[in-house]
Amino acid sequence: MAAGEVLDTAALIAWPMERMRGSLVVPSQRAELGRISPEREMLLDSIGLEWATPGGAALAQASELATRTGDMSGLSPVDLELLALSLERSATLVTDDYRLQNLCELGGIRWLSVTMEGIRALWTWELRCPGCGAVQPPPDAPQARRGGLGSCPDCGTALRLRRGRE
Ligand SMILES: [Zn+2]
Repeated sequence: MAAGEVLDTAALIAWPMERMRGSLVVPSQRAELGRISPEREMLLDSIGLEWATPGGAALAQASELATRTGDMSGLSPVDLELLALSLERSATLVTDDYRLQNLCELGGIRWLSVTMEGIRALWTWELRCPGCGAVQPPPDAPQARRGGLGSCPDCGTALRLRRGRE
């Protein structure tokens, strides 16, 4: 049973207003949207969105997940809040950002592409050992991986997810 949808800013711009009613967004998106699409930003209050700020526990969980996959440096504070809010509400994250889609897969969060095309780059991610460089079979997403990504069978180093060649 779906528990609502968290919309990233691309969805706020692209989706029809009636489709967004009742969806979850974070307050920091208002400024982001204002920079990208001021006309859309002016409409925000008439859409019927639910504004919510994720709690500290959810933010810590999202940070831990992003740190583990090595995606942290590529995420904006807004991205991290969206991920955390999705975790907290067990909501579907609507995003075209491949990093966020990948984090959803690994964190057991449902996601939906803004353009409904689905993820294409997922299969170009690979588990690589930062110790010896060996590439392990990709994770059989989607499922929660609370035990982390595991360690290298060759040298024991904790595995990290890397973006492979297209
Ligand atoms: Zn290794």
